[in-house]
Amino acid sequence: MTIQGTIAQWRERLRKKEISPVELVNLTADAIESDTTNAYISCDRQAALKQAESVDVNSPLAGIPIAIKDNINVLGQPTRCASQLLAPFVSPYDATAISLLKQAGGIPLGRTNMDEFAMGASGENSSFGITRNPHAPDHIPGGSSSGSAAAVAGHTSIAALGSDTGGSIRQPAGHCGIVGLKPTYGRVSRYGLVAFASSLDQIGPMTQTVEDSAIILNAICGHDKKDSTSANVEVPNFESFLGRDIKGLRIGVPTEYISSGNHPAIATALQNNIKELENLGAEIVEINLPHAEAVVAAYYIIACAEASSNLSRFDGIRYGKRAENTNGLIELFSRTRNEGFGPEVKRRIILGTYVLSSGYYDAYYTRAQKVRALVAKDFTEAFEKVDLIAGPTSPTPAPRIGDAAENHLQTYLADIYTIPANLTGLPAMSIPAGTAEVGPATLPIGFQLIAPHFREDLLLQTGFALGK
Ligand code: GLN
Repeated sequence: MTIQGTIAQWRERLRKKEISPVELVNLTADAIESDTTNAYISCDRQAALKQAESVDVNSPLAGIPIAIKDNINVLGQPTRCASQLLAPFVSPYDATAISLLKQAGGIPLGRTNMDEFAMGASGENSSFGITRNPHAPDHIPGGSSSGSAAAVAGHTSIAALGSDTGGSIRQPAGHCGIVGLKPTYGRVSRYGLVAFASSLDQIGPMTQTVEDSAIILNAICGHDKKDSTSANVEVPNFESFLGRDIKGLRIGVPTEYISSGNHPAIATALQNNIKELENLGAEIVEINLPHAEAVVAAYYIIACAEASSNLSRFDGIRYGKRAENTNGLIELFSRTRNEGFGPEVKRRIILGTYVLSSGYYDAYYTRAQKVRALVAKDFTEAFEKVDLIAGPTSPTPAPRIGDAAENHLQTYLADIYTIPANLTGLPAMSIPAGTAEVGPATLPIGFQLIAPHFREDLLLQTGFALGK
């Protein structure tokens, strides 16, 4: 059983009273229960039904159920970040994005599987089992928002929220053939999002269409006093940009992104989409991002450094799991963390602690921050010449299950196109861009657009003009 139709379509039906929010919650919960990709960690039908009983169908989201990544707090629901360390944890409050979603008539339903603490790019680092790509069960759906992508692509949820620290919304969206948008850093409050790397993390929509992305973005954006990095900027009505033409828009294509390292199908999809943008009246401009090659190294130093600090709060005292029969405080800390964290999380904490330790701090962490500043300068200069930047979301289609575990470095390197938007705080969106034949599988491919700060409108306008 699946649930077909977009947010925009279900909203119409709800408003015309062709279906009630309670009926829609039941249909969606049935679809979630028949999921075969392991996209969900839990699903609380009763809590959603309770909310559906009193929802206003004339609200922006009209009672649409939305699946939520397992690292975003939803009051009364388990928030486990797919980790054994948080297995017994239940959220005592709503993340700001969830409060806003609820205020807009959205109904959180289904907690989606993910790489543990959002560390990964395949969905295979979950302690609740791997998630499969709905288009080809032998392939990964991407990650770390693996469950959110598989839920939307597999039509067991109408839409979902994900989080993106180095590409975790856009990369799985690309691998699963859906739309994934990482907003500008500060656009969506991080209050209630379990921190991985605080200077990079953002919550964003994962949807079937660009229109649905605009609808969710309208609901979750806005200034929040509870997040000191939240931006106090005006939130436009994102839906109002859909349908405007893109004549004269200058779109930059970085020469560094037309790489021999790209899978042939990725290269073809990129060319086709650029041609399509040209047909729609955009002007294509060749640009350079001289530090494109250094972004992965800088990102993994900064992300791990911040993670090692953020995850120190999981000590067995304050949240979730506590090791049993320990002898003293130190053993309680270390055994809780040893038993609770999986191998990738441990690897990152060790790496992060190393790059922050005295003697190595300047050699690694300070240098990574300098590279980050240079990458930001590349983009500032590029946006003096162009309105938007286009490129691939990932260098290859979704790998087969098991490939990432064999080659960590290769997996890290595949984040090359998504990381820059996090290092710079820029908004970026992956949209479906074609398919690749890989063995017997036909796999979706993503195409990425990057915009200047707070210009999500340009992403949505262009994505919609491409018919997505
Ligand atoms: N793949 C990246 C990583 O493993 C991105 C993760 C993310 O965006 N949460 O760190």
